[in-house]
Amino acid sequence: MAHPVLGLHHVTATVDGAQEDLDFCRGLLGLRLVKKTVNFDNHDVYHFYYGDERGSPGTIWTTFPYAGHGVRRGTQGAGQVVTTAFSVPAGSLDFWAARLAERGVEARRRGRRFGDDVLALTDPSGLDLELVAASGDGRAPWTGIVGAESAIRGLHGVTMMVRRAGPTRELMCGLLGYRVVDETEGRARLAVHEDAPGHFIDLLVAPGAEPAVNGLGTVHHVAMAIAGDDEQLRLREELARLGIQVTPVRDRCYFRSIYFREPGGVLFEVATTRPGFTLDEELAALGRGLELPPWEEPHRRAIEAALPPVSH
Ligand code: ZN
Repeated sequence: MAHPVLGLHHVTATVDGAQEDLDFCRGLLGLRLVKKTVNFDNHDVYHFYYGDERGSPGTIWTTFPYAGHGVRRGTQGAGQVVTTAFSVPAGSLDFWAARLAERGVEARRRGRRFGDDVLALTDPSGLDLELVAASGDGRAPWTGIVGAESAIRGLHGVTMMVRRAGPTRELMCGLLGYRVVDETEGRARLAVHEDAPGHFIDLLVAPGAEPAVNGLGTVHHVAMAIAGDDEQLRLREELARLGIQVTPVRDRCYFRSIYFREPGGVLFEVATTRPGFTLDEELAALGRGLELPPWEEPHRRAIEAALPPVSH
């Protein structure tokens, strides 16, 4: 079977306050807010989608701001995406270090990883993020806030922690079509479709790691992009044939998704590239209104009253 996974689609995290998340992701990182909606599984909580101008697959970072809902703080560990990296132009890390310092966000140089300089930072809810100075990322950035010479191009990749590499590698390099493009002690870089930013997943092998605890300040899942519904259904059948429990196709309005846990415990989603975020808003107006899925529209007034007010 041809490998249908195209690269990363999005990464989703559970964060703290809604306004501080907007201020951080939009105001500081300079990502575009491309959709303000609610968690389709819990309409009392926002779901923010950030990305490039149109929220192209591979540029999307999404958050559930759960402050005030009694959700415990999560802890990093095995079976989790522990770091999310964004791609920035080579030579821009001094700009970013200064920008972060000005706003009181501590950044740490992590040296070079697989040839690229890495700057590590922590978001307001405790998430570990990285900016990777990658050469040759040709994606057009959103330049509403940060200039083109430094702006984030999209996701670079994620690092997921597992106790044993074998079963995870077998699934990713088999059915999902990834290949190992680089490797150092304890870390393997896998890529699919292209050996380029937006296509990477690093496997960090930590045999003694405690299991991760899901909660505030942790990544909930990572989603890969797939071209269409037919490819998604075929992949779903293949996963089921391998004995992996996979959800039915879920309608996320802006894409359709299936979810499953890879053998190391990380929650994977496979999402279609269409229809995208211009489904219910014009390109120029993305993110301006509170957009609800059709089944939530009848409850709009109650939903709006329960959500914390935000400005952006
Ligand atoms: Zn998702």
